[in-house]
Amino acid sequence: MDCIFCKIVNGEIPNNTVYEDDRVLAFYDIEPKAPVHVLVIPKQHLRGADAVCEENASVVAHIFTVIPQIASKLGLTDYRVVTNNGADAGQTVHHLHFHILGGRTLGEMG
Ligand code: 5GP
Ligand code: ZN
Repeated sequence: MDCIFCKIVNGEIPNNTVYEDDRVLAFYDIEPKAPVHVLVIPKQHLRGADAVCEENASVVAHIFTVIPQIASKLGLTDYRVVTNNGADAGQTVHHLHFHILGGRTLGEMG
C-alpha cells in the first residue's frame, strides 16, 4: 500500500522515533508546527478517525495512554492533541495519527 506512514512503520522511510512498542510508533513531525510536534500512529493502517470501530478501538485507547508518557518524556505539561479527519479538516496523510503539539502558548482552534 502506498502509505507514507506504513513505510515509516516498515522502516522504508527513516524517522526520528520518540516512542515505539508493538502497536504504536511516535516520531517527530518533519514540518513542525510548534517547538514540540510529535505524531503518534498505530502500526496498523487505519485511514483516519472515521475508521475507528469497536474492533480496533483498543489501539486508540492505548495511544491515549502513551501520549502522556511521551509528553512527560519531552517535558510538556501543557499540550494539544489533534487528529484531522478528511481533506477539508487538513488530513494529508491517510493513516490515523495524533499530533502532539506543545512548547509554546497555543492559539485558539480554528
Ligand atoms: P495531517 O496533515 O494529515 O494531519 O498530518 C500529516 C503530518 O505528517 C504533517 O504534519 C506532515 O508534516 C507530516 N509528515 C508528512 N510526511 C512525513 C514524513 O515523511 N515524515 C515525518 N516525520 N512527518 C511527515
Ligand atoms: Zn498506512
